[in-house]
Amino acid sequence: MKCIFCKNDSSNSKSVEHIISESLGNKTQILPKGVVCDICNHYFGNKIEKVVLEMPYFKSLRARIMIESKKGKIPAISGFTKNKDDVEIRFSQDKSNTIEVIYRDEKTLDTLLKHDEIYVPLIPEPPQNDLHLSKFIAKIAIEALAKRVSKAEDWQNDFVENEGLDELRNFARYGKGYSIWPYHVRRIYDEFQIKFDQKSNKILEKLNEHDFLFPDDVISNDEVYRIDNLYFVLAIMGIEYTINLTNAGLDRYLKWLSDNQNKSILQMEKNEFHSNLNL
Ligand SMILES: [Zn+2]
Repeated sequence: MKCIFCKNDSSNSKSVEHIISESLGNKTQILPKGVVCDICNHYFGNKIEKVVLEMPYFKSLRARIMIESKKGKIPAISGFTKNKDDVEIRFSQDKSNTIEVIYRDEKTLDTLLKHDEIYVPLIPEPPQNDLHLSKFIAKIAIEALAKRVSKAEDWQNDFVENEGLDELRNFARYGKGYSIWPYHVRRIYDEFQIKFDQKSNKILEKLNEHDFLFPDDVISNDEVYRIDNLYFVLAIMGIEYTINLTNAGLDRYLKWLSDNQNKSILQMEKNEFHSNLNL
């Protein structure tokens, strides 16, 4: 068995891979052990996800919608007092509606008690053109594709040998080839997406969803199918991230968006955006 990133033997690997980080609320989208080897799993966890989750946008997002981290904690966010002293704020995990304010010195406490005001900057969107974020999305794209094809027999071998994915996997794992792999970011709906699920009779919160788009006709000859542009479209708490798996280009996606009134495929029926597909 070979790892889908480094292609080394992963038969003895022990870690399961979370396609989207657990600290972003994912408990179910998982690849079994051996799909991603322990060394790659460790690399993505420590060098990519950790950095992304500590970015001001993701930190404030996790705090304001109160997603527990892997260790069961809601992150603190940075704020300041009326006198511009830095403080950290943590929302309570019980139902008491209190907040915990962590301050550094007596002077800060005095200001807090005197003015009773705390300012918390709202960071509504993630950064554009960020290397760690592009690797983060690239890694999720490859793993989501692996999950999608993983029902086929002997899929992992074919996946590892698929040269069409080499550029993206080498970029995600080793930063090879490009200084950044371009991604497209925009808000498509509110942070809180809550819907009533009749089956389970529960109110569910939509944390993330994704799908794939191939905007061109699939070219086929002699049993070989070729896809020139394969886009992965992911939404995390209302922000849509799009990346191309087959080449580092977004032009075709931008054209697709303008041809489709800037709709998101995540808000369309499958037959609306895959009418070109007749495999
Ligand atoms: Zn590996």
